[in-house]
Amino acid sequence: MTSFIPLPVRRLLGGWWHEFQARSKKNALLGSLKGSGTKCNVCGWEGRSFTDDQWHPGTICPECGSQVRHRMLAAALDGMSNLPGLDEKTLLSGKRILHFAPERQFRNRISKAAGKYVTADCERGDCDLRLDISAMPSVPDQSFDVVISCDVLEHVPDDLTAMREILRILGPGGTAILTVPQMDPPARTDEDPCVLSETEREKRFGQKDHVRMYGDDFPSRLEQAGFVISTLVHTSFFRAALESHVLYPPVANANKLATNQRRLYFAKKA
Ligand SMILES: [Zn+2]
Repeated sequence: MTSFIPLPVRRLLGGWWHEFQARSKKNALLGSLKGSGTKCNVCGWEGRSFTDDQWHPGTICPECGSQVRHRMLAAALDGMSNLPGLDEKTLLSGKRILHFAPERQFRNRISKAAGKYVTADCERGDCDLRLDISAMPSVPDQSFDVVISCDVLEHVPDDLTAMREILRILGPGGTAILTVPQMDPPARTDEDPCVLSETEREKRFGQKDHVRMYGDDFPSRLEQAGFVISTLVHTSFFRAALESHVLYPPVANANKLATNQRRLYFAKKA
């Protein structure tokens, strides 16, 4: 298509042209994945298989971009796990919810369920608050019932202080919903504040803005901060949900930074 439209015309069309190209590319992808057997429980898309990410084939929803961790959270909220009390009605309905680095796939759902819904990020301009999760003096003690922070703590230099801050702003019985990239078991967290270059961080921690790569000791860090932890892994979900929504990569990646097994943590304030 590009070759039929002269460059000056494309420049004139500007943003519209880029949007048109992106939409055409997405439509072609959706067409190539037509079928059944795989269903995104975040957006409802159904097809032959999900598309690929950097580490795993068949794990990304071509419609909404959901990853394994998003679909695990949706399945938990839909009551598809073997742990009680993690469904949307029990966990979120009418609650005061603070959502860090809010995933676009969940904003509507959580906002509708919540009694009060506040979004926050340390950089993004599309959130209610600009907040550093490890220093939140502007947020009063016990002012939220739920804090959601998925794939955030691996960016935070002092994660223990961040965990203590989350604990502080939660009311009694409050819950933090957390995910982080983790090396497959058995592994200990790899961190080193002396690793400062983006290249070295990407090589060692999986992304240029990560300051560590967590291991199995992530929940014990949360316990150290004062939380009581419940964990969901792919086998915690009903088999139909696990297979249809692809809650574990169809092909595991041997790279230790690939996070084959995603874990969803519900950290409760006693
Ligand atoms: Zn989707």
